[in-house]
Amino acid sequence: MDSNYIFQKVKEDNVKFIRLQFTDILGVLKAISITADQLQKALDGELMFDGSSIEGFVRIEESDMYLKPDPSTFLVLPWNSTTSKAKTARIICDIFDSNGEPFIGCPRFALSRAIKEAGEMGFNMQVGPEPEFFMFHLDENGIPSLQTNDKAGYFDLPPVDKGEEARRDMVEVLQSLGFEIEASHHEVAPGQHEIDFKYTDALRTADNIVTFRIAVRIVAQRHGLHATFMPKPIYGINGSGMHLHVSLFRGGENVFFDPDAADGLSDTCRYFIGGVMKHARAIAAITNPTVNSYKRLVPGYEAPVYIAWSHRNRSPLIRIPARRGIGTRIEIRNPDPSCNPYLGLAVILKAGLDGIRKRLAPPLPVEQNIYEMDLATRKQQGIESLPENLYEAIDELRRDEIIQEALGAHIYSRFVLAKMKEWESYSSRVYDWELAEYLEKF
Ligand code: ADP
Ligand code: MG
Ligand code: MG
Ligand code: MG
Ligand code: MG
Repeated sequence: MDSNYIFQKVKEDNVKFIRLQFTDILGVLKAISITADQLQKALDGELMFDGSSIEGFVRIEESDMYLKPDPSTFLVLPWNSTTSKAKTARIICDIFDSNGEPFIGCPRFALSRAIKEAGEMGFNMQVGPEPEFFMFHLDENGIPSLQTNDKAGYFDLPPVDKGEEARRDMVEVLQSLGFEIEASHHEVAPGQHEIDFKYTDALRTADNIVTFRIAVRIVAQRHGLHATFMPKPIYGINGSGMHLHVSLFRGGENVFFDPDAADGLSDTCRYFIGGVMKHARAIAAITNPTVNSYKRLVPGYEAPVYIAWSHRNRSPLIRIPARRGIGTRIEIRNPDPSCNPYLGLAVILKAGLDGIRKRLAPPLPVEQNIYEMDLATRKQQGIESLPENLYEAIDELRRDEIIQEALGAHIYSRFVLAKMKEWESYSSRVYDWELAEYLEKF
């Protein structure tokens, strides 16, 4: 997509505003809106902004940042402004510092860096995500509640409720945004949905996840609903995950596939698994980055708890879907949709590359249900658990130099600071559960 095409589209579609988008360290989408007549300046990377107000970015004295749009991400947004027919477009940007260097706090750069490293080893990572989310009603004041009026479950068919209608609308909007939707269905829990889109290279997928989250929320809102990517909004039912299907390609070839291996998996694939398993506990800090994330990672709700891999069952961290040939891939099952997708994919890729470099063979796959094993059996088989909570995950991150390197020192330190603050705020409060448990007992 060159700038001629962009200017032509802007004219044709009556685009009046352009949103220059990026995410902060926590994966929150930020945007600066410009008018179409500033577009050339923006495309030349000459637009400056003050980064000091963005979470985890910089100190006041070094706050001048430049946004450099990635022209291939230009999109005219399908929703009209409510007041006029004018349209808004978006372009995703990389951030540069005042010296014209890639800004070390830009999550998209962290991913680009890992992608470049993979490229030097001859690999190109492909990722397909399965984001899940809940849709809830708004109360009479317009505040999201935990109410759904649907009692449907996995793959249930209508009587269509408001949620189904909204989801169909989401699929259409996403398609008009260029997404190739592979599946969309009701999930296990009431009010829970999943929309799967086609895999592509890691950077594009991370961009897609960010776009997906915003599109889903906007469409839900238009249906009078609140869509949330919070991992575990309701105790006692399934939480929302975002499984990541991952493979490495070299040219048009999937190098995870080996037709001569008994299980069809190459050594490269095996070492990649070994790397992800070795770093899994630190990766969790990034792919499961909230206090609430760890309330999803408990036994009994189809979310992984144990660091193991399997061809057959869905209880471990990594499952190997049955497809071989071009579709050979691993499914990493702990990530949730509250994560920063740029950082999440950066740490997974980096862990996989570490495995390949050091030839880290994974342990034997575990084909029985790990939830039914007792602690002694798990110990004997060397099966470790994911972190129990955010604090434990951050602690692991502090000990894992490879994962720190994937983030870069700047993002690493800001991330840990922000997360420790979050943990302290959470852990010092007194909750309903404690009052119910202790108030009368003691
Ligand atoms: P599940 O069985 O866990 O529901 P799906 O069959 O729905 O998984 O797989 C979904 C994801 O896997 C999709 O995003 C799809 O595009 C992706 N996928 C397919 N082939 C590959 C591949 N070679 N590399 C990465 N992802 C892939
Ligand atoms: Mg699925
Ligand atoms: Mg599926
Ligand atoms: Mg699912
Ligand atoms: Mg899955």
